[in-house]
Amino acid sequence: MSQPYRTTAVRDEIRLPGFTGPVHLPGEPGYDETRRSLNPAVDARPALVAEAYGAGDVRAALLAARAHGVPFAVQATGHGTHAPCDGGILVRTTPMASVLVDPARRVARVGPGACWGDVLAAAAPFGLAPLSGSAPGVGVTGYTLGGGLGWLARKHGFAADGVLRAEVLLADGRHVTAAPDSHPDLFWALRGGGGGFGVVTALEFRLHPVPEVFSGFVYFPIEAAARTLEAYRSWIDDAPDEISTAVVLRRMPDDEQVPAAVRGRHVVLLKVLYAGPAEQARRLLAPLYAAAGPALLDETRPGTYAEAAMGGTPVRHLDLFDTVPDEVLAALVRAAETAQTVEIRHWGGAMSRPGPDAGPVSHRSTRLSVIVDTVVPGLAEELRPYAGGGTFLNFLADPARTAAAYTRADYARLREVKRAYDPDAFFRVGHVIPS
Ligand SMILES: Cc1cc2nc3c(=O)[nH]c(=O)nc-3n(C[C@H](O)[C@H](O)[C@H](O)COP(=O)(O)OP(=O)(O)OC[C@H]3O[C@@H](n4cnc5c(N)ncnc54)[C@H](O)[C@@H]3O)c2cc1C
Repeated sequence: MSQPYRTTAVRDEIRLPGFTGPVHLPGEPGYDETRRSLNPAVDARPALVAEAYGAGDVRAALLAARAHGVPFAVQATGHGTHAPCDGGILVRTTPMASVLVDPARRVARVGPGACWGDVLAAAAPFGLAPLSGSAPGVGVTGYTLGGGLGWLARKHGFAADGVLRAEVLLADGRHVTAAPDSHPDLFWALRGGGGGFGVVTALEFRLHPVPEVFSGFVYFPIEAAARTLEAYRSWIDDAPDEISTAVVLRRMPDDEQVPAAVRGRHVVLLKVLYAGPAEQARRLLAPLYAAAGPALLDETRPGTYAEAAMGGTPVRHLDLFDTVPDEVLAALVRAAETAQTVEIRHWGGAMSRPGPDAGPVSHRSTRLSVIVDTVVPGLAEELRPYAGGGTFLNFLADPARTAAAYTRADYARLREVKRAYDPDAFFRVGHVIPS
């Protein structure tokens, strides 16, 4: 399937001296599969896709892009590729998927191609968990550089908060370690500032003991939407950090894989992950069940963190709210009449208590985020007076809005770091900070 790199007339156009992995040119087997973004709006046409087997390969590809003056981009899975690397060199890090777990230090070290599923599987035998998100197929590095909002974030913070060090290939070809005592400004920027500062070739981060969880979905009829959201708004004030929840107003597919009780129905879906025993979770959730019930179907159960499948919602619209007046709740219930999915998710806990050395992940006072997967005419205008105007890098498809993911001060500092480490804006594809 993959073609080893050889010098031919076509390949002579862009040479990759020293590159050892497979290289795919347009029209060749492997090209379409490896250039793919999961964002259907992006149809990238790189001059070639180079599958890196190690940091030396990434460096060879980077130096080739410099030498030829063509765009350069990195991709692990394509889950967060929102801009095409047309005419350039696209490096796939997928083969560099190593995961090492040190259970004594509670630390994982991963290659840039590792996905959360790989880390979950490697950490689970030690009763440890990473700060992963809703999908095991998402790349650890891209997710973490963009902040990383997972189902343990209220307890342990954003994934970016737990990074200990990173090996980084800089725009000039130098390979450096970013850590508190080595390139501290770069280390700061990487923890939420996205992938525009260098190519991360290895990442080290904390794991957390999570021996048991109670998790899953509970479905209620859509008629309960207004009263559930109202109850949710006050319930979240006293929710302990161990519990993460979202209320989702969703049209369930009329699909055989969907349980019969909710197949094809419009529902209120409560997503729950509690890092602790089932009885405690049930006690905590009782007021929400009382407001929304009776349930059509309850799929919550005790289990391990690695088994918990929380599912994500594709983002067409995102707003962050520090306060949630009645007008917002009413607009969301109305939006559900048109949208396939409206997800209202509780932030707070450790996410709102960054350490003094935390990176640039911003908008930490957010109480609730709202994600809508469908364009609902008029909704953005209705919510605008109440929303903070900020966004979260990992949930942002439009690279032109990157600045909105940060406070003004952090954005200014990110630009300084960009100027210091990538003055010519060599890394310019995707959600990058301008230098
Ligand atoms: C189904 C789904 C579920 C999701 N769930 C969550 C969630 O729960 N929480 C959350 O926070 N986010 C979530 N996301 C968003 C996700 O974290 C981002 O899209 C992230 O960028 C994906 O990283 P990736 O490596 O998989 O994607 P890719 O498309 O491979 O990479 C995305 C970007 O990451 C950067 N990047 C990747 N590797 C490197 C590297 N080695 N060095 C430097 N930069 C690099 C590059 O800028 C690249 O353009 C989800 C996305 C999807 C599609």
